[in-house]
Amino acid sequence: MKLYEFQAKNILKTYGVCVPDGKTVSQSADAPKIFQEIGCNRCVVKAQILAGGRGKSGGIQFVNTPEETRTCVERMLDTRLVTRQTDQKGAEIKYVLIEKAVSIKKELYLAITIDRSLKTPMLIASAEGGVEIEEVARQTPDKIIKEPVDIFFGIHPFQARRIASQLNISGALSTRLNNLVTNLFRAFVKDDCSLLEINPLAVTTDDELCALDVKMDIDDNALYRHPEFDQFLPDQDISSAESLARKYRLSYISLDGNIGCLVNGAGLAMATMDAIKLHGGEPANFLDVGGDASLERITQAFKIILSDPKVKTVLINIFGGIMKCDVIASGIIQAIKEAGIHVPLVVRQEGTNVEVAKKLLDNSGLNILSAKDMKEAASMAVRASKANGYTNR
Ligand code: GDP
Ligand code: MN
Repeated sequence: MKLYEFQAKNILKTYGVCVPDGKTVSQSADAPKIFQEIGCNRCVVKAQILAGGRGKSGGIQFVNTPEETRTCVERMLDTRLVTRQTDQKGAEIKYVLIEKAVSIKKELYLAITIDRSLKTPMLIASAEGGVEIEEVARQTPDKIIKEPVDIFFGIHPFQARRIASQLNISGALSTRLNNLVTNLFRAFVKDDCSLLEINPLAVTTDDELCALDVKMDIDDNALYRHPEFDQFLPDQDISSAESLARKYRLSYISLDGNIGCLVNGAGLAMATMDAIKLHGGEPANFLDVGGDASLERITQAFKIILSDPKVKTVLINIFGGIMKCDVIASGIIQAIKEAGIHVPLVVRQEGTNVEVAKKLLDNSGLNILSAKDMKEAASMAVRASKANGYTNR
């Protein structure tokens, strides 16, 4: 889950990281007051989108009066922002952050992310921070400094000193950098980030370190232990089906095809999508209900698939191990009772309690296309998805 800059800054503040004074607005009428409250004669107006590259695309503007702030915010809320990190349609701007403009001596880059090949968090820094960081990494990769971090110990003092020296930082500033990386790592671990990036990290004219822009990405798999982040969910750039799936902790990704899939196990779900493609069809989603889904979650999963107007056929592919086939069957029956079904339903199941499950479905009165194996299931689903006018009642 990506957070907006202002949300990430609010979080980092609680870890003692210095960020500029500022406030977020969602209507231009509130803007002049904020300019006055901040109480300086120059502010930055920053379009909040879940992508970077704003500076180069007009999403970051400087203003000098309350009235100018209002017009600037008004213009931003009225447009979509296209940057090199968005698609051509651009991102809708729902919030604008108004901040005190900091006077910058130098722009640094500082981030923590996960290095997948080393299987550790990685501290990344550069003396050449700012809007050109991608170019710096491409053209002069030696200007990007990396320090793998011991996940249990954290950042060793010698590592912080090494970073400081490579950034040409010394004295009081180097102590500040040491504190900053320690706080940043604390936030990274505690909030289960997959990315925590400050770019630019400003060295201000009075030698403070101030985070001017923050990107925070929370590992979706850890969201279950962060109810405090639920408040950020409505702003996520995902389909309504995906946000419903998150609520029920289902692993669901919406795709472009028309065959809805309900599968247990990520590997089986991938294989099911492959089988559909092999038979000339297109999956409408990836959905892994997991190995221990309850009746309620199965019911919800099925409803989520049916709520997608693209879905012309549903394919259920279950290999019952820990997950029992009869629980899935009860979930299907329950969901159809509650939500109805308007498309063909193909079921293939195997494994624990499969006989009980088959009986449940047979006695349910539902019109189910029963497949003996996965190949047959895929070919039946593809055929059904292409047939017109078929309805299941
Ligand atoms: P991004 O382009 O989406 O990464 O947006 P940033 O928030 O990083 O802003 C882009 C650039 O605007 C920064 O690299 C700075 O050069 C400049 N900038 C942002 N905030 C301030 C500020 O408070 N004072 C000054 N002088 N420049 C700023
Ligand atoms: Mn930035």
